[in-house]
Amino acid sequence: MPQTRTARLMDGAGLARHVLDHTAAMSSAIAHRTGKAPCLATVLVGEDPASATYVRMKRARCETVGITSRHLPLPATTTTTELVDAITSLSEDPAVHGILLQHPVGDHVDERAAFEAIAPHKDVDGVTMRSFAAMSFGLPGFVSCTPGGIMRLLDAYDVDLAGKHAVVVGRSAILGKPAGMLLLARDATVTYCHSRTRDLRSIIREADVLIAAVGRPHFILGEDIKIGAVVVDAGYSPGNIGDVDFDTAKTRASLITPVPGGVGPMTIAMLLSQTAEAAALQMGLVPAELIPSSQGDAAVIKPAASF
Ligand code: NAP
Repeated sequence: MPQTRTARLMDGAGLARHVLDHTAAMSSAIAHRTGKAPCLATVLVGEDPASATYVRMKRARCETVGITSRHLPLPATTTTTELVDAITSLSEDPAVHGILLQHPVGDHVDERAAFEAIAPHKDVDGVTMRSFAAMSFGLPGFVSCTPGGIMRLLDAYDVDLAGKHAVVVGRSAILGKPAGMLLLARDATVTYCHSRTRDLRSIIREADVLIAAVGRPHFILGEDIKIGAVVVDAGYSPGNIGDVDFDTAKTRASLITPVPGGVGPMTIAMLLSQTAEAAALQMGLVPAELIPSSQGDAAVIKPAASF
């Protein structure tokens, strides 16, 4: 009787807990040495309920790992100039170590101009052009949080990327595009797909590593997954639904992320980890020297930045 194959789950929730424990230890070491806690500034334009919830969750999580947060709520009518000025002030404020601009910010605002007002050494969400360039060149800097979380997951499960065909479905500035650059920097052969891609299914079928970053429920079917592929589902649609049809994909993949509990928890863990790291660097400390080696699992906790 042929046995049904079942992929191994990539436990993002578990790995995120590990990263957050490490972040809490780093925050505590920073506070012990300097008397100051790392501080993340969150900026929210308007009152979109989903965005407000995301910011609330991030701030609540900050508290659990010894990071203070400072919230700047701005009215929906905020202009680009006003937003840029507000972010520039935070960039210049020595008490703030990381800045998160919750996006989208509204169609009337030049989002790129607002992101670029974040000082590179405070860009803990990895959204500036400089951070993207550093990611692409494999240079020190903060990574975009969701792609960075994906890379940590792949590393935690010892996925060898060199020479593998990685297919990234989606090319947004915060997710698909940087994910592809990080994979390329690790010697994968990368194909980007998007809404204009022809014959998408045949490209997906060639993927040794598949990153789904589309935002359409169950868009990728199990029958299109190459046997033994590593499948990372970054998609999230209401009702905890990913981009990949999990039940059919798990019978063909070797490793797969669940939704929820896969990529999602890693995103926030990356944000807080990079905030603690930014604080250490801004206070003249060496992040890697702050934590005893027993708590600094090298396979999982890789220092991202140094300026
Ligand atoms: P986005 O900006 O809307 O980008 C979606 C991408 O999918 C675009 O590049 C688009 O192509 C592509 N696409 C749309 N329809 C397609 C189709 N029929 N065939 C092929 N490609 C198609 O979304 P995003 O911000 O990158 O987010 C993507 C998903 O990830 C969403 O579900 C979001 O909720 C989730 N997400 C999760 C986390 C997390 O922490 N887990 C973080 C961020 C995002 P074009 O460029 O041609 O339009």
